[in-house]
Amino acid sequence: MFSCWLSQLCRGLSTPTRRTTQLIWSSASRSLVLSSQRRIPELSSFVARTNTCGELRSSHLGQEVTLCGWIQFRRQNIFLVLRDFHGLVQVVIPQDEPAASVKKILCEAPMESVVQVSGTVISRPPGQKNPKMPTGEIEIKVKTAKLLNSCKKLPFEIKDFMKKTEALRLQYRYLDLRSVQMQYNLRLRSQMVMKMREYLCNLHGFVDVETPTLFKRTPGGAKEFVIPSREPGKFYSLPQSPQQFKQLLMVGGLDRYFQVARCYRDEGSRPDRQPEFTQIDIEMSFVDQTGVQSLIEGLLQYSWPSDKGPVVVPFPSMPFAEALASYGTDKPDTRFGMKIVDISDMFRNTEVGFLQDALSKPQGTVKAICIRKGAKYLKRKDIESIRKFAADHFNECSLMGKLRLECADLLEARGVVLRDPALFSFLWVVDFPLFLPKEENPQELESAHHPFTAPHPSDIHLLYTEPHKVRSQHYDLVLNGNEIGGGSIRIHNSELQHYVLATVLKEDVKLLSHLLQALDYGAPPHGGIALGLDRLMCLVTGAPSIRDVIAFPKSFRGHDLMSNAPDSIPPEELKPYHIQVSWPTDAETEKSSSNHPCRSES
Ligand code: ASP
Repeated sequence: MFSCWLSQLCRGLSTPTRRTTQLIWSSASRSLVLSSQRRIPELSSFVARTNTCGELRSSHLGQEVTLCGWIQFRRQNIFLVLRDFHGLVQVVIPQDEPAASVKKILCEAPMESVVQVSGTVISRPPGQKNPKMPTGEIEIKVKTAKLLNSCKKLPFEIKDFMKKTEALRLQYRYLDLRSVQMQYNLRLRSQMVMKMREYLCNLHGFVDVETPTLFKRTPGGAKEFVIPSREPGKFYSLPQSPQQFKQLLMVGGLDRYFQVARCYRDEGSRPDRQPEFTQIDIEMSFVDQTGVQSLIEGLLQYSWPSDKGPVVVPFPSMPFAEALASYGTDKPDTRFGMKIVDISDMFRNTEVGFLQDALSKPQGTVKAICIRKGAKYLKRKDIESIRKFAADHFNECSLMGKLRLECADLLEARGVVLRDPALFSFLWVVDFPLFLPKEENPQELESAHHPFTAPHPSDIHLLYTEPHKVRSQHYDLVLNGNEIGGGSIRIHNSELQHYVLATVLKEDVKLLSHLLQALDYGAPPHGGIALGLDRLMCLVTGAPSIRDVIAFPKSFRGHDLMSNAPDSIPPEELKPYHIQVSWPTDAETEKSSSNHPCRSES
């Protein structure tokens, strides 16, 4: 398994072909020629080995090789299995007297020590070939060995099947990264990002531009992290996304921008969120919604790993209202049916009290989910748990959507396959409202996406009379019930943007004066999107958590368990920033930890 996966990765995701892509961009008398070559990567260039452990086969018989790797396993002081990222290889420990020093090194080094061995590739004796191992036909007859570094007693064994808590894995992340699964996840991520760059920059002329991560507080959206500055009372903020910068790049004529962008949101702890995460961030001038959608479909098709099945385009599209009505969520999992059906009309004349009661309320409805053969699969205690679930979530409007997923979980626990894990079901959700009532104060409106999203052209007049009815040019990309991307066509008219910010959203426009000003200087029509790379990779690899596709993630409480960040700073080091800590009282500490959804890291 190990070598199959990794050697496929090392060879590249697609059939290696030599190809030269040239992009010629000319402006006035200058021209810039970019080229990139795709070929089999050289895995042993510049380093102290001739080959990787995983690449050796019968075709290498007789070759003198030097390998570097970690000691995975030793058998009776005769065989040693050496591992690198590419796979495993069997090394024969010499038993003859002149090679006693080599034997001593290889037999005494603890497991997971790093060694360098040189020797000859030989055929394994008849009957000793291991067909389960890609290198199982050969072994290395060692001549020299060097202990590069010894390994102390490990906090856990480097074997994927060994169960370990996530807290321990995060504390010793550098060891956890040695696992097959983490190697696979990170290497696949790197290869997909490379293919995305290739598609965007080389095939479609996008420009990769880095934007600042020290920025200022901006209105709307998620809570931002604050960074003290040396100027009294002044703070930077870490951007939630490069949204404003990418729009300003369009004003600057950069036309087709992309970035593998780091984003920061101080949203507290949620099991599947990270305070810092990565987006494939894209913006284009002179584009409409269809243009952005086609670009993303092509991008995913091009970068999709070949062993995950083909990506069929175009992706289906569903209006927001239909998603809510039929799936009870704006990110429907369309791998299975069990849609929500409004059956109010069937019960208009009912005498059943609680139904009558429901239908007599303004906007009261009776809705149903049909579970085919439910009676066969669901037990009495399942029905009881559905009833309890419904009671617990009664006043949430997304109740039916949650109930649909809960029923799917129950059916799958009883052996019914509803959500094929090998199936990737993409969906565009479109026609969102531009504004939604604020949760904490439904009389006020907030942006459904962000305040820079343009209204649907046929609804612009409603902005000034009934803003809650305006549809937007916002689109979300959903994969198997997870939002993996979102974007919009933007407002490029300064007056309209000012109206939305000041009059509809009641935001402080001064904070965005730079953007409003820029829109006045010939801003082109533009739009874009951002794909959540961590969530996308989590779905592609089938990882249980987004932390499994990030090299050094934070725990669900936002801590780095390896280095112990965030950490305290002595008061004298805070002085240059003109800030001091106001320590919470015991009662406040107690209250905040009891409000915490996940109190323990382990
Ligand atoms: N900046 C947006 C976000 O992070 C994406 C976009 O509108 O392009 O959700």
